[in-house]
Amino acid sequence: MPNKKTHLLVSLLLGLIAGFLLYNDLIYALIFTLLSGLTATLPDQLEKPTHSLHRGFFHSIVFLIVLVIVLSLLVWTPLSGLVFGYITHLLLDFARGKHKPII
Ligand SMILES: [Zn+2]
Repeated sequence: MPNKKTHLLVSLLLGLIAGFLLYNDLIYALIFTLLSGLTATLPDQLEKPTHSLHRGFFHSIVFLIVLVIVLSLLVWTPLSGLVFGYITHLLLDFARGKHKPII
């Protein structure tokens, strides 16, 4: 499982790219990026990574789908970076396999 530093770096990098693509504005992109970094480690704070199969609802595909819907509704504001950071965490965890609860 990726560690905190990896989640933070990936979230900031993807947040910066997405922020510029979405807003084409430096200030909005930076706000989006910083907010993305704030929630990049939140899932593991909600559900401690004690082992690779520990994940519960806050690491599930159902919760990811809910977040994508929320992101699509909030994308007009850089505050959506909070949701984006959480999503990058889940996608990075999913990319590592082994712990993908459906619910
Ligand atoms: Zn995680």
